[in-house]
Amino acid sequence: MESGTAAKVSEANGAGASGAGGERIEVRNPATGGTVGSIAVDSPERVAEAVARVRANQAEWEALGIEGRYRWLGRLRDWLLDNSERVADTMQAETGKVRGDTAAETVYLTDLINFYGRKAAKFIGDETVRPHSPLAATKKMTVQYRPYPVVGVISPWNFPLALALGDAIPALQAGAAVVVKPSEFTPLGIDEIVRAWREEIGAPDVFACVHGTGEAGGALIDNSDFIQFTGSDRTGRKVMARAAETLTPVSLELGGKDPMIVLDDADIDRAANAATWGSMFNSGQVCLSVERVYVEEPVYDEFVAKLTKEVGKLRQGADGSSPEKDVGAMTSPNQREVVESHVEDALAKGARALTGGRRPDGPGDYYEPTVLVDVDHSMTAMRDETFGPVVCVMKVRDSEEALRFANDTRYGLAATVFGEKDRAMALARRIEAGAVNVNDVIVNYVLMDVPMGGWKESGVGFRHGEYGIKKYCRPGSLILARFPGKREPTWYPYTKPRRGLINRVARAAYARDWRRRLGLRGR
Ligand code: NAD
Repeated sequence: MESGTAAKVSEANGAGASGAGGERIEVRNPATGGTVGSIAVDSPERVAEAVARVRANQAEWEALGIEGRYRWLGRLRDWLLDNSERVADTMQAETGKVRGDTAAETVYLTDLINFYGRKAAKFIGDETVRPHSPLAATKKMTVQYRPYPVVGVISPWNFPLALALGDAIPALQAGAAVVVKPSEFTPLGIDEIVRAWREEIGAPDVFACVHGTGEAGGALIDNSDFIQFTGSDRTGRKVMARAAETLTPVSLELGGKDPMIVLDDADIDRAANAATWGSMFNSGQVCLSVERVYVEEPVYDEFVAKLTKEVGKLRQGADGSSPEKDVGAMTSPNQREVVESHVEDALAKGARALTGGRRPDGPGDYYEPTVLVDVDHSMTAMRDETFGPVVCVMKVRDSEEALRFANDTRYGLAATVFGEKDRAMALARRIEAGAVNVNDVIVNYVLMDVPMGGWKESGVGFRHGEYGIKKYCRPGSLILARFPGKREPTWYPYTKPRRGLINRVARAAYARDWRRRLGLRGR
């Protein structure tokens, strides 16, 4: 067993249930191949118990109101800030990330707590609705936003905290109870935080964590009122099908094959640096990773030379608690095989690796940072999500050809365009993706003011912004009669004079010409 903070949570049982005595999942450190710890698997019955437990406390949580819930979430923010290194230790041990790649998660999560804490009243507070017609003015109309009682969050391994806690935070702020089912590869960090919520912060028992693989995920779908899923499109389809059985609404954040377009008037240094970080950040295991780059012919050679030089300089390996490496391990061993198969397929079909293109020798699940050129859309590396440290670069005649290639995909998560501002913005509007970064890369994820989600097969629904909290609520209309007499003209008994009155009122209110308003026929 490895030393460090991760070892302290090594015998965790899952915050969802007791989990004693049953099957356990062993958690590996992909950077070293060592064992970090193990966690008890929750059976479907235990998942149901965990959901029932937080469900029992949800009404009281909702009754705290937006401010009361923000007070508890604010304590979680403070705990995260005070324990950021401890959290990073666990995350680093179970993912094989380099230290630099762990920093983003706590920063993002604390900002997110403040964002929804401050904005929730605006986003999900009561709305008084102005009547659309004079007749509707006899009623006072209010829309309230009531949370789904229990939100189930099923999350992947690439950002084990940001994608589990990040989707739980707006749900908790909305007044829902939340049960998280993290990836079986990275269960420890989120388990530690959920435990701290209850035991160190002393917050209400409305936030639980259950563990296991697809079976536990399926049980969570069966027992929750709303499912927030982040993962592959393959699993996303199964989640949606399972949720259909109980008519449970879902929001799916799925994979991508994000393109970058480099126009001939781009700042090539910035574009090459962005492509380097955008494709290699977190060892390429980012849904928003730059996987395909289309470069206009006049600047292709310069861009490829700079990109290859930057990627070639990256330091890969097991990092310590102060950043000395740039690129970490592949968190899931299966993913390294996917990456390998994409590169082999491309090389067999005529692509060239200008740097990388193989597993390095030595311990740990690494794949060398790789730049592929002479690629085309017959190669899996240009069609399917690689999700590893590989970037493919293709020369294009002009921006129209780049756009055609960029849109030639079943995915539509995000994209990037580098070039002169007006030209790049005009092109960005025509890309079929949920977000386009212009002269920037990946940054849309942390800009929580705007929606983030996939078009096409990259997802259903969005996170962040107003939608990111409203989706956890059901709008409920409250109608108050302003002038409650003994009866309304539309109620019983039906009589000829009343029928005539209704007709006259309808003509006066809804006709758009004076003749009809006055009861005369139109011309
Ligand atoms: P995955 O689909 O294999 O697993 C995701 C989660 O689903 C895990 O917790 C897993 O245990 C669970 N699961 C597996 N089978 C299930 C089933 N039948 N029912 C219910 N739950 C089930 O994904 P992964 O390999 O962990 O993550 C990588 C994928 O996630 C990539 O495709 C990546 O693009 C995507 N991703 C998307 C976003 C986004 O915001 N769009 C963010 C990060 C990752």
